[in-house]
Amino acid sequence: MISEKMKPLVNNNSAIRAMFEEGNQLRAKYGAENVFDFSLGNPNVPAPEAVKKAIYDILENEESTFVHGYMSNAGYPRVRKAIAESLNRRFGTHFHENNIIMTVGAASGLNVTLKTILNPGEEVITFAPYFVEYGSYVANYDGVLTVISANTETFQPNLAEFEEKISANTRAVIINTPHNPTGVIYSEETLIKLAEILNRKQEEFGTQIFLISDEPYRELAYDGAVVPYVTKYYNNTIVGYSYSKSLSLPGERIGYIVIPDELDDAENVFAAASIATRVSGAVNAPSLMQLVIEKCVDEQCDVAAYDKNRNALYNGLTELGFECVKPQGAFYLWMKCPAEESEFVNKCKEFNVLPVGGKSFACPGYVRLAYCVSYETIVNSMKAFAKIAEYYGLKK
Ligand code: PLP
Repeated sequence: MISEKMKPLVNNNSAIRAMFEEGNQLRAKYGAENVFDFSLGNPNVPAPEAVKKAIYDILENEESTFVHGYMSNAGYPRVRKAIAESLNRRFGTHFHENNIIMTVGAASGLNVTLKTILNPGEEVITFAPYFVEYGSYVANYDGVLTVISANTETFQPNLAEFEEKISANTRAVIINTPHNPTGVIYSEETLIKLAEILNRKQEEFGTQIFLISDEPYRELAYDGAVVPYVTKYYNNTIVGYSYSKSLSLPGERIGYIVIPDELDDAENVFAAASIATRVSGAVNAPSLMQLVIEKCVDEQCDVAAYDKNRNALYNGLTELGFECVKPQGAFYLWMKCPAEESEFVNKCKEFNVLPVGGKSFACPGYVRLAYCVSYETIVNSMKAFAKIAEYYGLKK
């Protein structure tokens, strides 16, 4: 009874549910404190106090019909203005309210963007490993996702293969920085080279190729790392942002996209994206949350807590002999499997450690550990990791 497009998604969902159920069974058997679940990217630090204050303040002081009413599909103009000004202050950009469209999180921002620019059969390129939902989002608009294989030296994008594969049918390229699942931040050098290739190919093919920068982890960067602002390097860039991680508000579904003036046909693209927001069924981003963002535009969650977890996990695992990419941002650690991936993931489960296998990100032979968990979970998991390391003979 369900559509052909939904059938593979339903099957895949059963696999995710099976993993979730497995975690629950382990927790019931051994106690939650003895299960080290690194599978979910759900923030564990609370939203800043300023968010709660803003909600109370708005409900006390603003008109109910304004707070809960419809507004322009792009969102409240004054909220979009506050976001544009915050970006300009922090990144030296020159945005205004008509560069910003409020979205229902990053997921909706990507869907609105793809609906706006993609024709059936056109190609979207992304780089492995990648957030697997991109495949579903591209399929929503009958596009074709092409995946460039991983550069396992640095986990920066594999630009040599990209340059070979990009074609006259390529409509968009999706990048994600800071990166899920590797924790890598795309360097300025990478962005300059990527922009060079895109500009050259646009000219060669006489097409427009959009660079979509998916940035829900922009604020989670460590050791003073700079996350370059992508619109500065390539004119046809659309940025997707979300407060799911930066303010720990994933359930509230709030974010925005940036359509800069420099983008080809920017006004039309902006108008189309506003309509795409409406006809996608979202109509507009949640109204109360938009107003909260206006008041909390420069706030961020406790990044130091993630940093503490990052150091404890990275140092602990590397001391045990595991090969890991040191995360520069986001809250994921990417680790090389010391054995075949499925065997390794099963072995981890035997010790009540739950990672996500790299196959889920089109990059087999690795696992992702989401360290948005309590510090105690990380400290206590080290005994389990030590036994796993011993099993594989990693400890010298
Ligand atoms: N993009 C990436 C790379 C993500 O990791 C996620 C969520 O984990 C999303 C997009 C979706 O974020 P949101 O909850 O804001 O829709």
